[in-house]
Amino acid sequence: MAGTTVLDAVDCFSDLGLTDEIVAALADRGITAPFPVQTMTIPDVLAGRDVCGKAKTGSGKTLAFGLPVLQIMPAAAPRRPTGLVLAPTRELASQIEAELAAAARVANRTVLAVYGGAPIGKQIDRLNQGVDLVVATPGRMIDLLDRNSVSVAAVAHVVIDEADRMADMGFLPQVEWILRRIDADHQTLLFSATLDGAVNSLVSRYQREPVTHDVTSRRITVEEMTHRFVGVHRLDKAKVAAAVAGPARRTLMFTRTRVAADRLARDLTDQRVKAAAIHGDLPQSVRERALRDFSAGNLPVLVATDVAARGIHVDDVDVVIHYDPPSDHKAYLHRSGRTARAGETGLVVTLSLWDQELEVKRIQKRLGLESPIVEMLSNDERLADLAAWNPEG
Ligand code: ADP
Ligand code: MG
Repeated sequence: MAGTTVLDAVDCFSDLGLTDEIVAALADRGITAPFPVQTMTIPDVLAGRDVCGKAKTGSGKTLAFGLPVLQIMPAAAPRRPTGLVLAPTRELASQIEAELAAAARVANRTVLAVYGGAPIGKQIDRLNQGVDLVVATPGRMIDLLDRNSVSVAAVAHVVIDEADRMADMGFLPQVEWILRRIDADHQTLLFSATLDGAVNSLVSRYQREPVTHDVTSRRITVEEMTHRFVGVHRLDKAKVAAAVAGPARRTLMFTRTRVAADRLARDLTDQRVKAAAIHGDLPQSVRERALRDFSAGNLPVLVATDVAARGIHVDDVDVVIHYDPPSDHKAYLHRSGRTARAGETGLVVTLSLWDQELEVKRIQKRLGLESPIVEMLSNDERLADLAAWNPEG
């Protein structure tokens, strides 16, 4: 039996306590609704508490720790950063720097990623000018500390990102070496996909009464889903969607507009696939009924617009169909995350008309999901089990 949760409490970043400037900087990037890990952790971080977050790649951890830390951290003197993020790889460190750049600007704080393989001289120059938040790989941080190019004495906020990966890569001794040198009273945030053994000992040794948030069951990541991309023809599209949804217990389909949602629900019904649409034009009671039926297993297909689907969480969705391609990779993740079901994979199918292939490929590229877009007609037998079909084969 599936559970339904309507998360209506927090729908925007300002409710979490972030400044108007930061909220506006996010909105400029099209980021308006917080992900679960952000809803859970931002208020605690702002309150100065230690936080231990269990969350996976793609769940939005960077903003979860980065925004509140940028908001509350003091400004730094040269070579004495007040914030430190430790990340396992140079790619992650530079992604964190990029992800936080806009918010840092409006918070009047500077962020710098330092990692091996890049000229250390430039990093030292920047540290001399004064950097508030340093994002470092452990090896390079130790190198800089050894040269007295940086000090952790003034660090008031430290983040250990992807602690399990650091443990897997053998970095924990280096991480601990750094943590032991932070003596000022400070806040420690730790994020990890798993919390066991070595990671737990980090938590117990370096965190003070941490608040623990587990968001792994709430949102799954691209790696845990099966992604298929199907090229379709305009007049055959609804039939393709019906063929994919037919064998599944619960399918959630996304359209860009309310009109498209209504039309698709009608077309599916014509194909003898029971479906209902939910969107903002419908009365609350109608939306709730559709959701209840879907959740109870009496309605196999729910068609939703992005806005209507926000804040609705139905467990046990087997298939997500991007009937209209999502607006960008973030929307792809947001929609696809509705297959969330702890420990099981979901099937995510994107339908693409020929003139949508470029935008679909752009999203694939951004997500590292570069699998071929294979053209199929609605009578194609592969549609009944797209998870089993190998698009590369
Ligand atoms: P993690 O560190 O958990 O792997 P990231 O912090 O790198 O995840 O976030 C993954 C992607 O999701 C990034 O491209 C980021 O810009 C985007 N993102 C994060 N939070 C939101 C949000 N609330 N709304 C839309 N996109 C978001
Ligand atoms: Mg990350």
